[in-house]
Amino acid sequence: MLRGDLVHPVISGNKLWKLKYNLEEAGRLGKERLVTFGGAFSNHLLAVACAGASLGFQTLGIVRGEERMDSAVLKQCRQFGMQLLQVSRSEYRDKDELVRRLNLERAENYILPEGGTNALAVRGCAEAVPSDPAFDHLFVPVGTAGTLAGFALGASRVMPQASVEGIVVLKGGEFLRDTVRELIPEQPNWKLHLEFHGGGYARVDDRLRKFMQRFAAQTGILLDPIYTGKMMRAVFELAAENYFRSGSSILCVHTGGLGDVSAQLNRTTEGSGQAGKSR
Ligand SMILES: *Cc1c(COP(=O)(O)O)cnc(C)c1O
Repeated sequence: MLRGDLVHPVISGNKLWKLKYNLEEAGRLGKERLVTFGGAFSNHLLAVACAGASLGFQTLGIVRGEERMDSAVLKQCRQFGMQLLQVSRSEYRDKDELVRRLNLERAENYILPEGGTNALAVRGCAEAVPSDPAFDHLFVPVGTAGTLAGFALGASRVMPQASVEGIVVLKGGEFLRDTVRELIPEQPNWKLHLEFHGGGYARVDDRLRKFMQRFAAQTGILLDPIYTGKMMRAVFELAAENYFRSGSSILCVHTGGLGDVSAQLNRTTEGSGQAGKSR
């Protein structure tokens, strides 16, 4: 397991990889404020709040409406000085229109997409692939697919025979294949598994809770129920179906997300569970 959960105490592992070159670019362009989008449980919002505070940027988080504004994540965002603005679900859908209406296209703002996925994020994730040893399979949990695209790009350089496989954590994630193709048009070394979402984004059931508990007890490694828990359960299920050739080496990427596991475990079947935008 690649322990992305250990790279920073607040910034969920893959969010730091995704932000690295974006923060560099924002500094190079002389930007004063980071502006981004997310739901009330978004690890990305928190990552931007903390990174901004560390590097001297102001931060503005635009939060999808009708969600509680007192979640643990949003409380921590405020702690880091992030200004939060709640907009309705329908307003939230059209980000370009929102940016225009709120007059955010000003020179001092650096606008990061929801989930932080863009070309610079892919570059940062590509660098996180360890160069040695080579593996047969790499597994990554998938929300917006930026991390998967970056790992596929990085693996193509240092372990070209590896298959980079994403476990999609939301229902109806077919569209993510196009997202990956747009981010890394040249790369053939990846695939997405769509059948392990367990009911939809942030849906947590007792089987998943039990799996995560057993995994923690056997390894000393905590998983989160939204991303890494579903990924590891999928890898175990694939192994049980003899998906892997005997002797295969498998690297699973722990992307972090441990900020508020107990609250996440208590959320049972809230939310729509649809092709989710709750990141
Ligand atoms: C955001 C997040 C992901 C999803 O990453 P994408 O690049 O959006 O696919 C995976 N794991 C954790 C812990 C996250 O916080």
